Amino acid sequence: METKKCPYCSEEILKEAMKCKYCGEFLDDNLSNERKTERESEKPKEIVVTKKNSGLVTFLIILAIIALIGIITGL
Ligand SMILES: [Zn+2]
Repeated sequence: METKKCPYCSEEILKEAMKCKYCGEFLDDNLSNERKTERESEKPKEIVVTKKNSGLVTFLIILAIIALIGIITGL
């Protein structure tokens, strides 16, 4: 297991640690790695999200149309 020094209390903690077990501070020195992965996955994520959103929007529009048809035919 790789370790690193906590930037808050300088205790040796696991490199993968999200939170220091000694001082309880949340560690964001993984930011450099996170930023890299964010950059790499930013575009695909956005595409997936927009696809999901457009699918949901389409679904909601269809539901609204069905509801409208129901209201119209009901009247
Ligand atoms: Zn600490």
